[in-house]
Amino acid sequence: MHERRPIRQLPDVLANQIAAGEVVERPASVVRELVENALDAGATEVIIRVDEAGLKYLSVRDNGGGIPPEDLPTALARHATSKIASVDDLFAIGTFGFRGEALPSIASVSRFTLTSRVPGAETAWQLTTEGGQATAIKPAAHPVGTTVEVGDLFFNTPARRKFLKSARTEMDHIDETLARLALAHPEVTFQLVADGANRLRFEGAQGDLLEDALPRIGAWLGKEFVASAITVDAARDALRVRGFTTLPTYPHGSARQQYLFVNGRPVKDRTLLAALRQAYHDRIAHDRYPAAVLFLDLPPDQVDVNVHPAKAEVRFRDSGSVFALLRGAVAHALDAASQKVSPAGQSYALERFSATPMPMAGAPSAPRVAEPSAALHFSMPVDAPPLGRANDAAAQQSAVVFGGYPMGAALAQIHGTYIVAQTEKGFLLVDQHAAHERLVYERLKKQVLEKTVERQPLLIPEIVELTPSEVDLVLEHAAGLAELGFDVEAFGPQAVAVRSVPALLGQPNPQRLLRSVLDDLRTLGKGVSLQSRLEATLSTMACHGSIRANRRLGVDDMNALLRQMEQTPNCAQCNHGRPTYVELSLPDIERLFGRRT
Ligand code: ADP
Ligand code: MG
Repeated sequence: MHERRPIRQLPDVLANQIAAGEVVERPASVVRELVENALDAGATEVIIRVDEAGLKYLSVRDNGGGIPPEDLPTALARHATSKIASVDDLFAIGTFGFRGEALPSIASVSRFTLTSRVPGAETAWQLTTEGGQATAIKPAAHPVGTTVEVGDLFFNTPARRKFLKSARTEMDHIDETLARLALAHPEVTFQLVADGANRLRFEGAQGDLLEDALPRIGAWLGKEFVASAITVDAARDALRVRGFTTLPTYPHGSARQQYLFVNGRPVKDRTLLAALRQAYHDRIAHDRYPAAVLFLDLPPDQVDVNVHPAKAEVRFRDSGSVFALLRGAVAHALDAASQKVSPAGQSYALERFSATPMPMAGAPSAPRVAEPSAALHFSMPVDAPPLGRANDAAAQQSAVVFGGYPMGAALAQIHGTYIVAQTEKGFLLVDQHAAHERLVYERLKKQVLEKTVERQPLLIPEIVELTPSEVDLVLEHAAGLAELGFDVEAFGPQAVAVRSVPALLGQPNPQRLLRSVLDDLRTLGKGVSLQSRLEATLSTMACHGSIRANRRLGVDDMNALLRQMEQTPNCAQCNHGRPTYVELSLPDIERLFGRRT
């Protein structure tokens, strides 16, 4: 039965705690709100301290303009702000804050201290609250600027505390949040101290935003990002997009390396993300993500930032223009950076190629009996391209011997990348890298299952620089990686040393290998079984250990590859879901040449 209760005005503290549910999701959101306040106050130096990932203690100290003592209590009142005064201001927001919700929300769920001093004042003033109940203000020692201290976050809302993840995950969010703010404000120095130790420092720089952002971007996203960065700079009307995107050959397994800013505000906006995706649409595989740092600037009245309590989303007045500008700017930058000629429109011929999987051959011990007659029948000497000169005696011979096998006989390698193989029904074009990747992957998987992984020690351990949370993540998986033949160990707070790689991979680049593996671990971190994580890591490793495009293969090597493919499960697809080969049947060839309709 429904029992009617009277309608009552909620007490302020409860209202603040409810608001806190939206504004303060986790320690990182507290960091974000407080750092934004510091930036709004014109700070040039911001120091963040956290103990136990901000759950025990979290403070943000700035050298901004401060809060006069008479305003201190008001700063903690709900819907109290110095940043807007009328509804018109709401559509011309030049500050991060405007809702007047952060301080009261945070104070309502913590033991909270606000200390501030304005220029010219003789002393600082301090206000303390516990669960939102304020004490009287008293003088305190503090230079010009403000420090907000947040102790025992969620101490009085234990249910919320339960939603928090491991300290590592929360720390990860804090790093990420700070880095995003720091990327957009290269003129400000940021320092993060965790459990008493320096964790991150971004030194403030002078001058033009874009050029100054690059060292900081490099410090956070790594040298490889900088090495493959392409400058983006385009404007239309009052819209401007600037920043860096990366070569399509530097894609990632997740969207984590996509940093988008609107008027200096870090956002996760669908329009912008979709525009970026579109710009790369036929340049990278569908499950890969480009890395980019892009700053969109537009007049404040063209963007509504008041659509999300944590201000992570925005709404554009003309999202079509924003989409078009961003996509166009990135695509243009990519075009300018690539010498790649777009493929001629041979769509008719391409449509005739089919990617249907072949029936597998029998077990290795029982190869199908070759039917030389069939192979011979089709192996007419051809001198014209593409097969050219390579259709030599060895290839002819191979066609005879392997004529009965599903994957046929290798005739030639073209452009150092594709193997042409003649089959009973027509011919195959095999992508040697994709095919080999699948083989290496399946073999690695088998070795891991049978615990027979061979490792290849590196003569000189490779030192890979990482962010502190990346180091944590790698070390957390060190035992699992070691089982795959990939030995890593700690090397200071911001690096790991790679000691061995799986022998099956040949001579992979340990740096790149580790970066890709990290991507996988991160993407699959939450709620994915160890088994799937292992498989993803293996698949990534296989990619690094496979024969590349542009490697010459002899006929014997090519035939060996084809034979192995016949014995390998899932050989028709590489680990990224692309086909490893396509087939053109004789009837289709005949149609191509008008011999058949
Ligand atoms: P908002 O930022 O939306 O105005 P907040 O609750 O975050 O709301 O802050 C309330 C007010 O307190 C701000 O409008 C500002 O006047 C003042 N304030 C908060 N933090 C600082 C700071 N670090 N330096 C100076 N003033 C601050
Ligand atoms: Mg604020």
